[in-house]
Amino acid sequence: MPESAALDWIVGNLAKPAGSIFLRLVFMAVVPLIVSALTLGVLEIGDVGKIGRIGIKTLLLTLALSSIAVLIGIGGVNLVKPGAGLSYENRLKLLESLPGQSLVQSAVENAQKAKSLSETIVNFIPRNPLEQAVNAFEGGLIPLMVFALLLGTAMSAAGPARVEPLKRLMEAVMAVMLKLIDFAMMLAPIGVAGLIFSVTATVGMDALKLLMKYFFLVLAALALHFSLTYSAAIAFIARRSPLSFFKDISEVIVTAFATSSSNATLPVALKVSQDRLGLPREIGNFVLTIGATANQNGTALYEGITVLFLAQFFGVDLTLSQQTTVVVMSVMAGVGTAGVPGGSLPLIVAVLQSVGIPAEGIGIILGVDRILDMCRTVVNVSGDLAIAACVAAWENRKT
Ligand code: ASP
Repeated sequence: MPESAALDWIVGNLAKPAGSIFLRLVFMAVVPLIVSALTLGVLEIGDVGKIGRIGIKTLLLTLALSSIAVLIGIGGVNLVKPGAGLSYENRLKLLESLPGQSLVQSAVENAQKAKSLSETIVNFIPRNPLEQAVNAFEGGLIPLMVFALLLGTAMSAAGPARVEPLKRLMEAVMAVMLKLIDFAMMLAPIGVAGLIFSVTATVGMDALKLLMKYFFLVLAALALHFSLTYSAAIAFIARRSPLSFFKDISEVIVTAFATSSSNATLPVALKVSQDRLGLPREIGNFVLTIGATANQNGTALYEGITVLFLAQFFGVDLTLSQQTTVVVMSVMAGVGTAGVPGGSLPLIVAVLQSVGIPAEGIGIILGVDRILDMCRTVVNVSGDLAIAACVAAWENRKT
């Protein structure tokens, strides 16, 4: 129904507002959630440092595997270019149709405002974190994340007894924000329907074709990381047969797939690590508990693909330094993501903002997100078990 007044009315008065309400509910949790989750994440890793060798090995493997994951994702998205191919007019129409006002100018312009490397680095350090929090959606999110990282580091240096009240406060903030996201998720069926309706009514089926390409690219990249990277780590570091490893952890894979939540899968993972894999309890408990929040390979990979996909979708050309920002932020996002369904959505907003892509663009991918969430959670949790097996083998060889 091109040029139809009735369709315009439905998009403008029903579909868009429904999408906006849903997105705003997610957005309102972004600042408090990012500060609390990242601070706690670093605090936990800080504790890891105190546990010594096991902690450092876990940390190294986490960073190495997450970086490989993100590079696989980014390689794939540059190769396949799932977001490219929308015509210029459709793109403009789409930008105008997205809920939120400040977008149309911002997308392409922001991305063009690339600064020199030194300027960029200095700007990452906030002068006033509160100011950055207020301007979070106008580019303040990265400095705010840096503040959270430093806060977590300082808290862990100050010693557990003294920071206990602040830690508990952060935990409470995080729990409440996750509840808020839960509320938003209750509206997701209506909100997401509204968003997809607006997009397809504006752009036509082209948008869905690109979305399908994106969907299969994420699945393929997750499968690649799962079958190649993890197998290599298990064969060469843990010195086990990858096939029997995957067979042993099948219960964990199924639970992660069904619940879409690393946290909900943790009890099963703990059991399997002892009963099936025969890992020492202290190593299993430690690595898996930290890993459920801090090691999320699947999520990191997915964030890299999603951000570059949306950049292609909106015709935003990212410079090399912006692509590097995406890599670093995606690895960080893997650490900061809560192990709950949709836990990565607030962080995608952060990564999108950091390279000047309208955060509302996330609406385009939400329709297919749940299935991808189930799959990336499988990769997240299997990664924790793979790291636990590697650390256990490493420890044995040394002692
Ligand atoms: N659902 C994921 C997990 O629990 C997090 C995410 O990527 O949204 O591991």
